[in-house]
Amino acid sequence: MTELLSQLWTPELQAAFTVVVVLLVILYVLSIVWVVRDAYLRGSYWYVWAVVALIPLLGVIAYCLLRPPLLQIDRDEQELEIALKQRELMKYGECANCGYPVEADFVLCPNCHQRLKNLCGTCNHALDPTWTVCPYCATPVAGAAPRARRGARTPQPHQAAPQQTRQARPAPSERGGVQ
Ligand SMILES: [Zn+2]
Ligand SMILES: [Zn+2]
Repeated sequence: MTELLSQLWTPELQAAFTVVVVLLVILYVLSIVWVVRDAYLRGSYWYVWAVVALIPLLGVIAYCLLRPPLLQIDRDEQELEIALKQRELMKYGECANCGYPVEADFVLCPNCHQRLKNLCGTCNHALDPTWTVCPYCATPVAGAAPRARRGARTPQPHQAAPQQTRQARPAPSERGGVQ
């Protein structure tokens, strides 16, 4: 029996055996390193998991089953994404007239056609009715919403003025006609 074993236990087999053992040891050490690093990245108690990982094979399997599902970076990213979505939502408002959701640069309410914004006469950007100057091209806003309506009426005196002058001109000729 021992003769048979010593015959089988050739130097080649010994070498192969040590290679396998060395590989297993490397794998074991690497598994511990991986568990510690992964647990650290996932923001869990990595030192606890380091102790668990010392149990060969079972430690790694236990960690794979119980580790937190998200990396810390992913979690931060998710929070950032939520914050971004909230900011995006803040860009939307409601039509003061009908409550329909409208975007910040909408000029009209698409639902009830209520005027929401003024357009800059120079660059055609949507302007808040309270602004007195266009922030895109620095053109003074002649018509913020209330002023725009007044502005539409104010040209009437200008139009009336030439009519007066026209009326004024025929007046002397009329006088001339009388004289
Ligand atoms: Zn509306
Ligand atoms: Zn402008």
